[in-house]
Amino acid sequence: MIWNENKECMSRDEMSALQGKRLHKIVNYVYHNVPFYRRKLQEMDITPNGIQTIEDISQLPFTTKQDLRDNYPFNMQAAPAEEIVRIHASTGTTGNPTIVGYTRKDIEIWSECMTRCLTAYGVTRKDIFSVAYGYGLFTGGLGAHYGVENLGASVVPTSTGNTEKHVRLIRDLGITGIACTPSYALYLAETMDKMGINRDQIKLRIGAFGAEPWTENMRNEIENRLGLKAFNLYGLSEIMGPCVSYECEMQNGSHINEDHFYPEIIDPNTMEKLPNGQLGELVFTTLTKEGMPLLRYRTKDLSSLLDGECECGRTNVRMGRIMGRSDDMLIIRGINIFPSQVESVILSMKEFAPRYLLVVDRVNNLDTLLVQVELRQEYFTNDFDRLAPLEAIQKKLADKLKSVLSISAKIQLKAPGTIERSQGKSQFVVDKRKLN
Ligand code: ADP
Ligand code: ZN
Repeated sequence: MIWNENKECMSRDEMSALQGKRLHKIVNYVYHNVPFYRRKLQEMDITPNGIQTIEDISQLPFTTKQDLRDNYPFNMQAAPAEEIVRIHASTGTTGNPTIVGYTRKDIEIWSECMTRCLTAYGVTRKDIFSVAYGYGLFTGGLGAHYGVENLGASVVPTSTGNTEKHVRLIRDLGITGIACTPSYALYLAETMDKMGINRDQIKLRIGAFGAEPWTENMRNEIENRLGLKAFNLYGLSEIMGPCVSYECEMQNGSHINEDHFYPEIIDPNTMEKLPNGQLGELVFTTLTKEGMPLLRYRTKDLSSLLDGECECGRTNVRMGRIMGRSDDMLIIRGINIFPSQVESVILSMKEFAPRYLLVVDRVNNLDTLLVQVELRQEYFTNDFDRLAPLEAIQKKLADKLKSVLSISAKIQLKAPGTIERSQGKSQFVVDKRKLN
């Protein structure tokens, strides 16, 4: 099923024409309503009339998270206060949160885009859908909530916390769909195990997971344990919230709601636009937003745009998985390392649960990497006579990591359940070099 064929299945020419028209309008709008943009555009000798087609976007300036911080809290806002009906803040995973105001129309578009995602996952009005993203300043909870309501399915606003109660609701109400972070999905599975409830006693069939990076291995793990099909959901508060892109049933990249959010991939160093297929920094321009429209916002998320048509019938361009953020790339002894690389190795070994923490430090001027990882219950032992197999497991992981990362890491095996669980976004890295 496709929620809005008119907008999800346009020909490329129609889409480009629509994007060009909207781009012209939004540039005109920010020029007259956001002093920050007016100044920037004037400095660059750009007038709104000079921007007529979507290709003209390459003339426009970029916007960074720092710009949003410099204009904290409301100076990036284009709509007058009386038009703003909701205010969210980003999680602040990488620093001070940024503030985002939405007009009524923004909320409508957000709900519409979120409903497109849910429909692509196969959610229908008959579903009972639990939203287990945090409700509050974070856009995940309310964003998903409005999408489910707009679709007409029943929404259960479980939010995070009280996981045992949540598990009981999933079982007793026959909840069929869930939205949460992938790490919370695993936490739910662990809680079910503890409560002695297995996947045959619940009816979950669809999961919408996002807000943090996850891998194919993690997808398999969640699908096996909860007995559902897991879909990717991507978004960020600065641009809207969850709904910016979504997987369809083909699960071959995520379609972008590009009639509202225009994507580009750039080389983060040269800021040159990269061709489809190449990995770089995702940049979005909001084409219709009224509250806080942004031109060429640098997300710091690393991904690529995919060429070719999707068999689902949607023509909206797809993006690949987020490979990490340019700012969570670790440079250890001069080598670039992403936490997701370590995760893939860990999950390729059956002995480990998908729970790990990377601790980076500097000892005698040398960077060190410690990988703490949880053993699965079947492989765990406290018995000193049976430690040999554990040593072998430890060595196997160290060797695999060495070949993937090209640096050696120290491994610390942990007992099941001992790495701290998060209900929202998980922390995978502690960089002590930054703390000193
Ligand atoms: P913060 O940047 O403070 O975490 P948000 O709460 O707005 O603010 O989170 C948006 C970010 O979350 C994105 O920029 C991206 O890094 C991450 N994210 C969201 N969805 C996904 C996803 N499906 N896969 C990977 N990362 C995601
Ligand atoms: Zn598709």
